Amino acid sequence: MNQFNQMRLQPEPPLPGHRLEILHEEQDIRQRIAELSKEIREQLGDKDPIVVCVLKGAFVFVADLVRQLDFPFTVDFLRASSYGDSVVTSGEVKLDLDLQQSISNRHVLLVEDIVDTGLTLKYLQSNLESRNPASIKICTLLHKPLNNVKLTHIDFCGFEIPNDFVVGYGLDWQGYYRNLPYIAQVHQVSK
Ligand code: 5GP
Repeated sequence: MNQFNQMRLQPEPPLPGHRLEILHEEQDIRQRIAELSKEIREQLGDKDPIVVCVLKGAFVFVADLVRQLDFPFTVDFLRASSYGDSVVTSGEVKLDLDLQQSISNRHVLLVEDIVDTGLTLKYLQSNLESRNPASIKICTLLHKPLNNVKLTHIDFCGFEIPNDFVVGYGLDWQGYYRNLPYIAQVHQVSK
């Protein structure tokens, strides 16, 4: 191994006024994704599914998840927004970017970064159901069960977490922190 192979990029430090508390380390996430991919293979391995990545937050999770899935499937993307730049939900969901492929008669695996109130998922589920898929299964990396007022059913869940705002591994705070290899809670501290 040469000196370049040994170098590891350090993730950015917290923004001013923030302290990050790690909830799930990179290693935990890798391990959980390996387990999830086995569960997904058992249910969808012979169904030629379409994996739908909900942008932007799920892009890192989906990139790692699909590389653990060893059966035929296609991937497509959509983008829904409900939060804007705030940490408080606006209560409204809209589709900013739609799928390129038809999902009619296809088995869909809808992959989210996080289910909080369940509002986004509920909206996406009914939107996709109107397109006559063969089935829809839901996979999320994170779930805040205490806040899921919509009581949305989840088929594959990475981690249940407390009702706190988290960043990293694709999830952002005002566009920052998506590159963190771990999932962390953000604490506000005085500057
Ligand atoms: P829901 O509609 O379930 O309330 O919220 C779903 C969306 O809210 C997620 O896709 C994500 O964009 C955002 N969100 C909810 N909780 C968090 C959080 O703790 N951290 C971040 N970065 N985004 C969150």
